[in-house]
Amino acid sequence: MQALLQTPHEPAQLMSFTIHGIGISGGIAIGHAHLLTHTQLEVEHYTLAESEIPKEQARFEAAIATARTELAALAEHIPANSPPEFEGFLNLHLMILDDSTLADAPRELIAAQRLNAEWALSQQAEALIEQFERVEDDYLRERKADVVQVVERVLKALTGQPRNIPAPPNKDEDTILVAHDLSPADVILFKQHRFASFVTDLGGATSHTAILARSLNIPSIVALHHARALVREGELLIVDGNSGVVIVNPDKAVLAEFRLRQEQWELEKQKLKRLKTTRSATLDGTRIELHANIELPEDVPEARENAAAGIGLFRSEFLFLSRGALPSEDEQFEAYRKVAVEMKGLPVTVRTLDLGADKHLNGEERSAPNPALGLRAIRLCLAEPQMFGAQLRAILRASHYGKIRILVPMLSTVHELNQTLQLIQEAKASLDAQNIPYDREIQVGGMIEIPAAALALNTFTRRLDFISIGTNDLIQYTLAIDRTDDAVAHLYDPLHPAVLQLVAHIIRGANKAGVPVAVCGEMAGEIRLTRVLLGFGLRQFSMHPAQLLSVKQQVLKSDLSLVNTLANRMLKTDEPERLQQLLERMNA
Ligand code: PEP
Ligand code: MG
Repeated sequence: MQALLQTPHEPAQLMSFTIHGIGISGGIAIGHAHLLTHTQLEVEHYTLAESEIPKEQARFEAAIATARTELAALAEHIPANSPPEFEGFLNLHLMILDDSTLADAPRELIAAQRLNAEWALSQQAEALIEQFERVEDDYLRERKADVVQVVERVLKALTGQPRNIPAPPNKDEDTILVAHDLSPADVILFKQHRFASFVTDLGGATSHTAILARSLNIPSIVALHHARALVREGELLIVDGNSGVVIVNPDKAVLAEFRLRQEQWELEKQKLKRLKTTRSATLDGTRIELHANIELPEDVPEARENAAAGIGLFRSEFLFLSRGALPSEDEQFEAYRKVAVEMKGLPVTVRTLDLGADKHLNGEERSAPNPALGLRAIRLCLAEPQMFGAQLRAILRASHYGKIRILVPMLSTVHELNQTLQLIQEAKASLDAQNIPYDREIQVGGMIEIPAAALALNTFTRRLDFISIGTNDLIQYTLAIDRTDDAVAHLYDPLHPAVLQLVAHIIRGANKAGVPVAVCGEMAGEIRLTRVLLGFGLRQFSMHPAQLLSVKQQVLKSDLSLVNTLANRMLKTDEPERLQQLLERMNA
């Protein structure tokens, strides 16, 4: 272990270089880097005055001493019935605590870089964690968790209970957040700020972190792999969200070029606003409904500003993240009612809880062996009928105040759907018994996002009022690529012939059955795919509000008969090159 524990920070040169990742939200940001440490080790960051250094070092030493005393006290009073590993575990923690990389290196960072103690410790820990992640040996690699626990103990001694993403030292608008990884709950916290951009090492293009990043409507990039290690605090960055490139310490000419591009991008955005009142229809006048995806009631104004025809997907689980307890039925009712009222009679599609996989209640970690295939979404709700019942009652109560629809995620068997419909009936009956009003005609739809549901479509369309295609999960499960894993992010491909076949099959099947169908996955907001979906017969799209007007622009210029012909050809080939050619012709 000793060989791994070396001080990782050496003096830096102001060198310009680029890092490539996956652009998930377009536009160009220019600003200064603010490094976020490991999510578990989030702390306040500030720079000390020269004169404060000795006091800060003493504070750090005192915290190390407190942690050592705590561990020693635990080791002395090990309960008789403790597992035998307990003693070994405490000794290991004492050893980590006494190792010079944790005990001494932060002291040096406090002096050399004038960082506050928490920042120095977490920066050092971050570097150590990364070293552990690179170790081949499984046992040693897993010791990373012990390092985190020891650091948490010292942080606790320093600050009391640590937490919450701290505000950066610069003005928000000038700040580019650089993180190794962020959870969806972290990103939700960013909604309180107006950062210029954020970039992460991990994550795939359709992970919920990425989807939220898109909803912040700032240029963002994921899957940069080593940005957090390569970029230094305060360095000047250009983030090009269109091409997925970060330029670190750009020279004057590059900076000038990107400032120009940034202005052009802003100009384009302004021009798009003119389309707000234009009717959404193809060249031959066929009406295309463009709805918005939202995470929180606070997102409604943006949906309205971009003239959404309704809310096609309200990811209700975001009400449940970043908090200690589940929101009560009343609190949920208020949130759903607020959205329904503010949408003034336009449809609001509330998706029932899609927790599990990469979204968890506060403090809970991914614990299932394979969370994306585990107890997620409707599976979790059916396993927790009380929690689900409260949500269903809240949605039904809110339906009295606008046009709400219920959307059930992750259906794979008709049995799940029958059970859900039964629970909805029970929720209605309980409201009837209390004379509480609700919309008796409320529509119930299902998300088709598992290949099994796509292939057995009719069993679902027979029982549902509408369906919505979750292409993010459909692609994840069809291509067997974890949405959150940057190592397979390059395999995400909405143009894979199997994906196209499935999406077309669902749209055409639903149209044939006379059941309204929408796409609410990220494919719906990708303008290069708008015509593909139109050609498959899609007439309703739901996407993040910021994408609505560019998709509308694409719709307005679309010739349906040409698009239909090319889409049919696409379904007759499984050659990627040919598919690409057809796509280019469609978008020419
Ligand atoms: C999807 O899977 O495409 C979808 C819209 O739902 P989510 O991204 O929230 O899983
Ligand atoms: Mg999904």
